[in-house]
Amino acid sequence: MQRVAVLGATGSIGGSALDVIARHGGSMRASVLAAGGNVDALLVLCAHHRPDHAVIGDVAGLARLRDGLGEASPGTQAHAGPQALADLVSGDACDTVVAAIVGAAGLDSTLAAARAGKRLLLANKESLVLAGELLTGAAAAAGATIVPIDSEHNAIFQCLHGREAGADVRRITLTASGGPFRGRSRAELAAVTPAQAVAHPKWSMGPKISVDSATLMNKGLELIEAHHLFGLPGARLDVLVHPQSLVHSLVEFVDGSTLAQLGLPDMRTALAVGLGWPRRIDSGVGTLDLARHGRLEFEPPDLDTFPCLRLAREALDAGGTAPALLNAANEVAVSAFLQGRIGFLSIPALVDDTLAAIASWPATSLAVLGEADAAARRHAEQAIATGPFLMSRPHA
Ligand code: NAD
Ligand code: MG
Repeated sequence: MQRVAVLGATGSIGGSALDVIARHGGSMRASVLAAGGNVDALLVLCAHHRPDHAVIGDVAGLARLRDGLGEASPGTQAHAGPQALADLVSGDACDTVVAAIVGAAGLDSTLAAARAGKRLLLANKESLVLAGELLTGAAAAAGATIVPIDSEHNAIFQCLHGREAGADVRRITLTASGGPFRGRSRAELAAVTPAQAVAHPKWSMGPKISVDSATLMNKGLELIEAHHLFGLPGARLDVLVHPQSLVHSLVEFVDGSTLAQLGLPDMRTALAVGLGWPRRIDSGVGTLDLARHGRLEFEPPDLDTFPCLRLAREALDAGGTAPALLNAANEVAVSAFLQGRIGFLSIPALVDDTLAAIASWPATSLAVLGEADAAARRHAEQAIATGPFLMSRPHA
């Protein structure tokens, strides 16, 4: 019986993971469920999936979680806080960890899973962007298998059969849907609202990654993610906009052969690959009917209208703490945008401003990366409070 810890259980990826796990009750079960602050949503999941342990990130929620479990799932132990989560992930309570907390908040638990040699189904791309070398190094040292859950990287993982990209790979191309604002001009983006930005045309996702998809920062983070997962330099990583989101990425080999992975845009496929690997298991995802879809289109990304992709590539090339600075400034900017404190175009402006203001240096330790992360958050928060970024707030 494969025991699976689902971190970020109340989120979009967490829900998809639990759906796949529940389809295979004879061979796997959710043994740990963890969420950030929504005790009620976590209790509903516990009543349904009966895990051994439930963890709420916000320690203020512990008493309510414990009380609620008495009725919802008496066999489930209540825990709270990041240390309790890291301990459960490293210990005997699980074999596999679905790392689907959003943002840098997911780093500690992801790293704990890697260090403990668990099978790591990695959706939390921010932890790779922030600390890619440390994370992949820890996984290699402990013998942890990382299966990327981001659909593009999962596609590449499948095309490479779980190997690193060696000298036989000429380049990797990440596909991008283009997000809800594909084809718009910069001027048209000035007044877009959070509700418009999170309305993704192809994927149903959490609010942060939905905004990242609208700015194309998501694809920028994915370039950095691909670099760490597959060991290729930025110069051999491309991005191609593919509005239908059916081709999830491509690997070109030195002999001129290109392999791609196709499927309906549903994260359960990637999660089933991770849960079953190297076997194939049912995910609940329907059949791809190419005759019905008709056309597959491809176009280059518009870097002038969506500068976040360019900024991320520059951070990848700069290396060291630059990706950590980029990620932290972006998290602050996206959160401020979702709260209506800044406009959409202020997101790239804030990231650019932060990268220009704070020098990057070698990412020698987790402490150095943590300092870079904190410095970028301070700078971006202060720039929002005092700078010109408020000016471009939408009027809606
Ligand atoms: P979401 O907002 O729907 O869910 C986030 C989850 O993280 C929630 O369960 C929340 O409670 C939990 N969480 C937040 N802060 C926490 C904390 N401090 N401690 C513990 N738990 C905390 O987000 P999502 O769309 O499911 O995305 C999760 C991750 O997967 C992100 O890193 C995202 O980039 C990545 N990802 C998502 C998709 C997708 O289709 N949704 C695709 C590719 C990658
Ligand atoms: Mg993706």
